[in-house]
Amino acid sequence: MSLEKYTWDLVNCERCSMCKWVHPWSVQSKERAMICPSLKKYLYDAYSVQGRFDLARALTEGEVELTDKALEVIYTCTLCGACDVTCKFTRDMEPLEILHELRKYCVEQGKGPLPGHMPAVDSIKKNNNPWLQPATRRGHWARKLNVKDLNKEKGDVLYFAGCTYSYNANLQNVARTTLGLLQNAGVDVGILGANERCCASPVVKVGMFEMFQEHARNNIELFNSLGVKTIITSCAGCYGVFKSQYPAIGKMDFEVKHSMEYIDQMILDGKLKFTKEVPLKVTWHDPCHAGRGGEPQDLWEGVRVKWGLSDPPRQRNYGTHGVYDPPRNILKAIPGVELIEMERIREFSWCCGAGGGAKSAFPEFAVETAKERVQEAKQTGASALITSCPWCESNLQDGAIADSGGIEVMSLVELLEKAL
Ligand code: SF4
Ligand code: SF4
Repeated sequence: MSLEKYTWDLVNCERCSMCKWVHPWSVQSKERAMICPSLKKYLYDAYSVQGRFDLARALTEGEVELTDKALEVIYTCTLCGACDVTCKFTRDMEPLEILHELRKYCVEQGKGPLPGHMPAVDSIKKNNNPWLQPATRRGHWARKLNVKDLNKEKGDVLYFAGCTYSYNANLQNVARTTLGLLQNAGVDVGILGANERCCASPVVKVGMFEMFQEHARNNIELFNSLGVKTIITSCAGCYGVFKSQYPAIGKMDFEVKHSMEYIDQMILDGKLKFTKEVPLKVTWHDPCHAGRGGEPQDLWEGVRVKWGLSDPPRQRNYGTHGVYDPPRNILKAIPGVELIEMERIREFSWCCGAGGGAKSAFPEFAVETAKERVQEAKQTGASALITSCPWCESNLQDGAIADSGGIEVMSLVELLEKAL
């Protein structure tokens, strides 16, 4: 695929601006009507997907060059996918695919990724994680646990901790607790320890598609060789890429679930019982890659025919089939917890600001976006902002600090622990 494949979309964009706003039926206030974080920050059309379409067309037709400013426009996007959902109310187009394609174009031209992305990219090449940590320490988060090693024995379920929950000392407890919940419920679960490798989401997000393909292919081969039925991860980044991008790389002989889906089912089956009350008003942040990005994609490979119709016809992704209900069911099941929703939720959720390489290349933009989410959360009157994604969690924590605190940012599993 290349940008040329999307010429019809680039030329036929309506310039209707639907991609900049929460869908009109779901807008609750003018303060929270915007949906594109980069447009909100930079307040110029080029920083919306509509403007990026113009840039992509101009680049492919040789009207403009890939200057530093053009690179900034392309990479100050969190790839949150909100524009993709809202555009589809107007047009049968794929804005998110085009945003990915633009980054691939930058890499092909030798201009991308940006210097701010390179430490993570180099570390994935060298250590199989973006955190500049030795690969040999990857399984240390579980070294005191009695857990099956799937490198040596068979099991039904692989718990895939992901790079951030494996290495970040402040977040490792999420992986340990989730694994403990699965074991206590009698799930035949194991881990890969030091042999687990990065899902490569950070490299595909910055446009390094060939490197991504190689990592994804290796991972699929490894997972298939284990003979597991299910892979469970707590990281929304890993989940989103396994669910939406891996299927195009190779056949997967296993299903992928976010831990929230599995825990929700465990509660329904009576395998997880709460013993304590947690009197707390909370609000829930939908991670983009478990919500909009967690929806299985239609791997359509067709052509545009007359009037732009797709041949063969394809299914449109409206972002509505992501992991939205399981966290809400879990929160409602915890005794004492009261869930109060924010204005922008589910497929119209406001991004935390950390995605698409924004946190490493444009940290101020990332934190400002998180600060807006924290303010939206505070407006509900909740004392805690709950989520289940290591990127969202750490960036929202930075956003809360920038907004002088006043709300606790917590992982869903941390909250669950209080009730057990
Ligand atoms: S909503 Fe879609 S068609 Fe309308 S301006 Fe945005 S990208 Fe173009
Ligand atoms: S993916 Fe998100 S940040 Fe990027 S253009 Fe679309 S709405 Fe804006």
